[in-house]
Amino acid sequence: MADDIPVAQRSQPQRPPRSPFLNRLGLLGLGVSALVVGLALLFPEPLRLWLTPPPVRGLDARTSADGRLLGHFPYEEASAAELVEVAPGQALQRDAAQALLAMQRAAVADGVQLVVLSAFRPAELQEELFFAIKSERNQSALERAQVSAPPGFSEHSTGYAVDLGDAYAPQSNLSVSFETTQAFSWLQANAARYHFILSFPEGNVQGVSYEPWHWRFEGTAAALQVFEPAHRLSRASDTGP
Ligand SMILES: [Zn+2]
Repeated sequence: MADDIPVAQRSQPQRPPRSPFLNRLGLLGLGVSALVVGLALLFPEPLRLWLTPPPVRGLDARTSADGRLLGHFPYEEASAAELVEVAPGQALQRDAAQALLAMQRAAVADGVQLVVLSAFRPAELQEELFFAIKSERNQSALERAQVSAPPGFSEHSTGYAVDLGDAYAPQSNLSVSFETTQAFSWLQANAARYHFILSFPEGNVQGVSYEPWHWRFEGTAAALQVFEPAHRLSRASDTGP
C-alpha cells in the first residue's frame, strides 16, 4: 500500500531546527529536576515537612516521620455507640469499661478506691483543654504538649484511656504525687491483670511527661491495634543503639 503514495508525501514533514536557546532551556530544566530529586533523596525529612501542613489549627507544629505531633501519636475518636458510662459524665469503650469496673471492685475489696477523673474525651473537648489551659498558663505549645495531647492526638479520644485518682488522697489528683498513694501501689501490682498499663511511665520514649494517673486498656485485639504504633516505638528504642 505504501508504494502507492508518492515518495515526496511519504517522508516525514521537516521540523524546523530547534534554537540553541530552547535546547539550553531543556537541559536546564532537566538539571533542575535532577537536583530536586537528588535533594529529596538526600534530605527526605525537610522535603516532607515542606509538603505537609501543620495538622492542628493554631499550633505551629508538624508531625514527625512516624506520625507523632510533639511526641503524641494520632488517634481516631471512638464512636458514641461503643461508649459505656463508668462514672457520672464519664464513659469508656465497652470492653475497657467492663475491665475498669471489675478492677475497681477488686480494689475496693483491698481497701482501695479508684476514682475516675477523666475518661473518654472527644477531640473537640481536647481542643478546648489544650488551647484554653495553654493560654491560661502562658505555656508554649511544646510545654503544653508535654502534659496534654493536642486535639486528635490524645489517647483519651480512643475511649481506652482513663485518668485515675485515689478517693482517700484527692490532693494527689492529676499530680505526680499520685505515685505515693495506695491507689497507685495497688494499680502497679494489679492493673495488668485487668489489661491496663501505664501509658507514660517515667522516661518514656515518646517524650511525654510522667503521668502516674493515666492508664490505658489493651485487653482486646482492637485496643492493642490502636496502641501498636506506641509499642513499635518502644520496641525500636529497646533494640536501638
Ligand atoms: Zn490522661
